[in-house]
Amino acid sequence: MSTKPVYVYKGEALARYGFGDEHPFGVDRHDVFHNELGNAGLGDRLEYQETRRASVDELALFHTPDYIDKVSRMSQEGRGYLDGGDTPAFPGIYDTASDVVGTTLAAVDAVMAGKTRRAFVPIAGLHHAARDSAAGFCVFNDCAIAVEYLRNQHGLTRIAYVDIDAHHGDGVFYGFEDDPDLIFADLHEDGRYLYPGTGAAEETGRGKARGTKLNIPLKPGAVDSDFDEAWARVEAFLDHAKPEFIIFQCGADSLEGDPITHLCFTEEAHAKAAARLCALADKHCQGRIVGTGGGGYNRDNVARAWTRVVQSFTEAS
Ligand SMILES: [Zn+2]
Repeated sequence: MSTKPVYVYKGEALARYGFGDEHPFGVDRHDVFHNELGNAGLGDRLEYQETRRASVDELALFHTPDYIDKVSRMSQEGRGYLDGGDTPAFPGIYDTASDVVGTTLAAVDAVMAGKTRRAFVPIAGLHHAARDSAAGFCVFNDCAIAVEYLRNQHGLTRIAYVDIDAHHGDGVFYGFEDDPDLIFADLHEDGRYLYPGTGAAEETGRGKARGTKLNIPLKPGAVDSDFDEAWARVEAFLDHAKPEFIIFQCGADSLEGDPITHLCFTEEAHAKAAARLCALADKHCQGRIVGTGGGGYNRDNVARAWTRVVQSFTEAS
């Protein structure tokens, strides 16, 4: 068993990703989490790491050149929306969104270099952004870029993406719907009741990728026992798929009391998912896992859920 500290990313550049006080995705989420984590007594089992900015070439591993140009242009203008009305274009959003991506890639690099086996980036997991568009508070899809980066820079093939955010990870799902080597497992609030409306159980991948994606929609009001039942399926699916690396999107908006969703888990769900994914990572992936914060709009939930994820990482390190 390794005693390497868990890498946790922290910094003003990450904190800046947010859309102001009137928007659910405010810029206070970073500090709310880091304050809680700092009080958790994890001491030298954590190592804080600096952010870094992604290059255009890194963004282009997943996003189209036209879309990257559009974000760059709107970032200079600093007004209007990057999508239909959820994701405002504030001045400098291009650089800030690139900082999120770069930091997730830094976490990937650290894990691949063997400096740590588990890493966590709180302001990241922007799973709605598509190859050619922003969506649902997400400008650049750091998780999807990380998949391409692991292949391109690190020579891996089979990557697992696991998502317990209340919303379906549609940007990742449709970005790799026909890719048999992207192993996708996502439990979320049923799309008939919540944005983005996708992620039905029948959506299992297309063509030669059929069966490589697992979508588990849950009814509004689902509690920890519902999570446990769904999680058992996720675990069996991942164990069978034998990935080489796990990317975990642990949105805290699946906890009871989130202002914009209706799932009712406690942070035990997040703690358990993180612990079990570490065990699967040890079995199949040389322990390699990167966690990303994802959504979460109740600040107490964000603080507790993410802290429990990091705690599980430290206990499994
Ligand atoms: Zn969400």
